[in-house]
Amino acid sequence: MRIIVLYSGNYGERVLNNILTKFAPNIISVYEFEENLPEYIEDIENYVPDNLPECDLLVVTGLHGDINLVTCKIANKTGAKSVIIESHSQKQLPFGIRSEITESLLNVKCVFPKPFCSLKPVGDIYIDEFVKYFGAPKIEIIGEKFIKSVIVHRNAPCGSTKYIAENLTGYPLNEAEIESGNKLHNYPCLASMEFDNEFSDTILHLAGYKIKEAVKKSLGFSNMVLNVNSNCKGVECGFKCYNICPVVKMGEKAVEIIDKTAKINYLYCGLCMKCIRECPFNAIISLKYS
Ligand code: SF4
Ligand code: SF4
Repeated sequence: MRIIVLYSGNYGERVLNNILTKFAPNIISVYEFEENLPEYIEDIENYVPDNLPECDLLVVTGLHGDINLVTCKIANKTGAKSVIIESHSQKQLPFGIRSEITESLLNVKCVFPKPFCSLKPVGDIYIDEFVKYFGAPKIEIIGEKFIKSVIVHRNAPCGSTKYIAENLTGYPLNEAEIESGNKLHNYPCLASMEFDNEFSDTILHLAGYKIKEAVKKSLGFSNMVLNVNSNCKGVECGFKCYNICPVVKMGEKAVEIIDKTAKINYLYCGLCMKCIRECPFNAIISLKYS
């Protein structure tokens, strides 16, 4: 697989350095865009670099605003078959720019992970090859009562999963979930703390839900889970919990509708508590385990 990386800023540089650890032989070219380019660009053609080689996959990271549209020109020039454009704040890649890119690259598989650590396999040969190593965190926690070690099967593209894994050693297993979120903040994760209308949450919180999901999947338990009781009248309320859940909006089954009733899956639930506040029938309760 031949990869070209288009990047900008500290975050883009961090991602580039991290993915080089696995894909150095595959990365045939990189191109850095200046930071602080105008948000609105009239003639994007002026920003298309010369002499980029043909490639299979374009990875675009750290670009803000209209400059993301350069991806269309570069994909056409290089013959890229697949494109990954990450964003970690709402303003970075507005819906309108995403639509423009998708519409202009009809024969190219485009994905727009927000945040980058939410990227999962999509059934595309090149994107899925990338996701073998980078995307939504996948880990294996070793230890009985305390964490002896953590194997990283898939790292967040920014490298946060590896950092979190190295710093979880020694913690009791039942603190792993909460500590993984704390360590993400220490890394530091560069995802925005601004409210994102698309997800009804901040992107930083979404990143936290993804690392906690990885921890829970490895451990097979959570210290706190939400349950839906028999007061649930989903047909009457229109499944408000499902509609408000930021994790559902990310495409995960945190809330499922089964037999006209909502069910919450602790593996994906990020415990944001929005559904509890939203439920008109007080049907969602939290259960805490020690
Ligand atoms: S749990 Fe509450 S908000 Fe969710 S479907 Fe049931 S009644 Fe509606
Ligand atoms: S607490 Fe409710 S709304 Fe929040 S992630 Fe969990 S299921 Fe979704």
